[in-house]
Amino acid sequence: MLFGRAKRNAVKIADKGAVEWKYATCGYCSTGCSLEIGLNADGKPVSTRGMAGADVNQGKACIKGIYEHELFESKGRGTHPLMRSSIHDDYQKVSWDKALGDMAGKIKAIQNKYGRDSFAIVSTGQLLTEEFYTLGKLTRGVIGTNNYDGNTTLCMASAVSGYKRSFGSDGPPGTYEDFDHTECLMAVGSNLPEQHPIIYWRLKEALEKRKFPVIVVDPRVTMFAQMADIHLAITPGTDLVLFNAMAHVILKEGLQDQDYIDKNTEMANDFHHILEDYDPESAAKICGIDADTIRNVARIYGKANSAMSIWTMGINQSTHGSDGVAAINNLNLLTGNIGKEGGSSLSITGQCNAMGTREWSSCSGLPGYRTLENPKHRKEIADFWGMDEAFFPQTRGLTETDIFPAIEGGQIKGLWLVATNPMTSMANTARIRKTFEQLEFLVVQDCYRDVETTQYAHMYLPAGMWAEKDGCFTNTERRVNYTQKITNPPGEAKPDGDIFRELAQYFENGKKLHFPETSAEVFEEMKQLSKGQLCDISGMDYEKIMAAKGLQWPMPEGKEEGSPRLYEEDASFQHEGGKAKILALPYNENNERPTNKFPFWLNTGRVVEHFHSRTKTGKIGNQNKFSPTPYMEINPDAARDEGVEHGSYVRLVSKRGDTVVMVQLTDRVPYDMVFIPFHFHDCVNRLTLGLLDPHSRQPAFKQSAVRIEAVDQKEAAELNADRREF
Ligand code: SF4
Repeated sequence: MLFGRAKRNAVKIADKGAVEWKYATCGYCSTGCSLEIGLNADGKPVSTRGMAGADVNQGKACIKGIYEHELFESKGRGTHPLMRSSIHDDYQKVSWDKALGDMAGKIKAIQNKYGRDSFAIVSTGQLLTEEFYTLGKLTRGVIGTNNYDGNTTLCMASAVSGYKRSFGSDGPPGTYEDFDHTECLMAVGSNLPEQHPIIYWRLKEALEKRKFPVIVVDPRVTMFAQMADIHLAITPGTDLVLFNAMAHVILKEGLQDQDYIDKNTEMANDFHHILEDYDPESAAKICGIDADTIRNVARIYGKANSAMSIWTMGINQSTHGSDGVAAINNLNLLTGNIGKEGGSSLSITGQCNAMGTREWSSCSGLPGYRTLENPKHRKEIADFWGMDEAFFPQTRGLTETDIFPAIEGGQIKGLWLVATNPMTSMANTARIRKTFEQLEFLVVQDCYRDVETTQYAHMYLPAGMWAEKDGCFTNTERRVNYTQKITNPPGEAKPDGDIFRELAQYFENGKKLHFPETSAEVFEEMKQLSKGQLCDISGMDYEKIMAAKGLQWPMPEGKEEGSPRLYEEDASFQHEGGKAKILALPYNENNERPTNKFPFWLNTGRVVEHFHSRTKTGKIGNQNKFSPTPYMEINPDAARDEGVEHGSYVRLVSKRGDTVVMVQLTDRVPYDMVFIPFHFHDCVNRLTLGLLDPHSRQPAFKQSAVRIEAVDQKEAAELNADRREF
């Protein structure tokens, strides 16, 4: 008789018949895992595995990565350009010439009638960096609208804004390797095991070799919070108060690194004065963390020889997002934890190439972290592109979150969406739906024809996805990595970069500016423009990137290796004078909060199986099998008082709208909070308010108020069955 392990069947790994493996970088999250895609004898992609020896993931991949090859044959892909004259008509197939010719004609007509900025463009963090650069050239140098942004405003704008205010430039200063050196990690609003599983694995590896304290700040008892040494279950949206209180304690108890402060920083005149209001007892009343615990974590952080902070949307998606990031930077500047091993402010980015768009798309300025406000930068780019610098605006235009209200106000009449899905991702989607109906011309460019927003479009352009084209992504730790073209886009779909280049030819300026045909040629342009910039990539080329399995910028010409950290020792910050700024950051209470009528905080976030609005993962069998339906986490005590049962359906109602979800009882959320994953269409963003951060214009998705109502169980079950399939 067999007992124990011997009785179990051995795990068999299915042989998919891969005979050749091709290098790619994962196209989901910003961890930036190096992958290999297996092709069978017919050249068909049949398997994915993590790339051995890659610094980032060392052979590993998460549940999204290992099924990534299935995307190539997923349903709902667009195969032909489509047009219609009204959103009430059916789409008709058209040729690319017809589509791009008509699109250029419509853009010119709208701009001639209402002004250049009346046509807006919103892109993404999903394209290759070379494509972002080309779209920026088309937008800034040819079409000439200033109302151009990326959907990265919904996820990383507060990190960008905080970095710029503290250090003078965007650019995360640290690297994953800092886990191997740090003596204290504080993670804020980041459920690393579910959002960035491979970064979490890097952290666990470091902890197995050498124990150091892990502090997790999150209103939910997330998977990450469950493994932390200290979990601070903070009141939503009050992180800034906690950080100010920690700074208060560090300075009161003399734990700061005064030499570092004197040498490298400029402190706001009223910094000490403002901090007086944030003694631990006063702060505790606002942020919900008791005073002794605040003192304890401030001492642990302040006394560590090296300490680092990581964060994700828990801070960024807040009305104080930018201030929260700047306050983390304050802590690290006060304690000398920037630019050294194990000391860092490291934002964990969301999309695979959110960094690429920040560096090279020109959304908030000009390529290579240049700004529109700087006359020298405008001249450099105009000279390089061979155009009149007067064509450029002199200040940044509207962000995505201000473009939609500008459509409502009649200021914007035409919109081009590239690989983004606002009907699921924006707050208050009922309002977004009405906004789309006001547009005279909407173009949706996406690799999926069935993305929700095409219901409101006049034109649909089918794009190639991920490894149907070649080029680079930059990950969270500034690592530039390469993806090979594995297969062709379906039907007549084209790589996004080809669509941008071909559209340029229909404009007068587009015929004058040079638009290179290959990704490698575009990369060469970017290299030239990067020389002397913080994000210098002039020492890289595709072969070196692939050989190293990713290289971190800056890597100037002549260097053979990238730089793991920014602002090390003699490196000066990007503010004039070379010093970082320690900012005075008072907290103002401006969130929507629970009331008698809407007694629950509504929190939103991700699950490990899905990516963003499920446009991709909603098509993959295993992802849907493990996470098939939208649900609401509620505390068992609150559920008992509301009379709802585990597995039943309820209607959630906010001041904006309502949605129906399945109940999941869990102690992960406190009594006065419910949590819903944001991936599902027509779900949580029917409820969210999305107040904007004044600096970054990023919406506060995580601070809304809702109530629970009973719902007919049979009708609700039918509705949810419809939602499972994309
Ligand atoms: Fe891809 Fe992110 Fe998973 Fe790595 S952790 S395989 S980059 S989704």
